[in-house]
Amino acid sequence: MSKIVNVIRMKCPRCHRGMLFTKQNPYSLNDGLKMPDNCPVCGQDFKIEPGFYIGALWTSFPIVIFLMTLLSVFFLVFVKMQLEWFFVTITVILFSLQPIIIRLGRAIWINIFVDFDQDAENK
Ligand SMILES: [Zn+2]
Repeated sequence: MSKIVNVIRMKCPRCHRGMLFTKQNPYSLNDGLKMPDNCPVCGQDFKIEPGFYIGALWTSFPIVIFLMTLLSVFFLVFVKMQLEWFFVTITVILFSLQPIIIRLGRAIWINIFVDFDQDAENK
């Protein structure tokens, strides 16, 4: 459970205190996805190996599928939106959420490989 909370808060998977991303705002144009090399609190390596976050595609893809399912049910079943407008709307929504989805995918990905360590700060 704490892993899920930690993913949403986008904190270091090891100490749960250091921030995973340099900027708090995911829509910060040039550095919205920038991450420090190491956790500023416990020193955990955030770039575990070259191309580590390519694997995060596997964790952001299910988020997109989940969102598409929710949006499809909402717009097609409840709003009864026309199909042409539905495709425009869903494209705009998913495109504008992209920075958040990528961040979540990366946060989930690193949380899969690094576990919480209570004494992380003291090492
Ligand atoms: Zn840390």
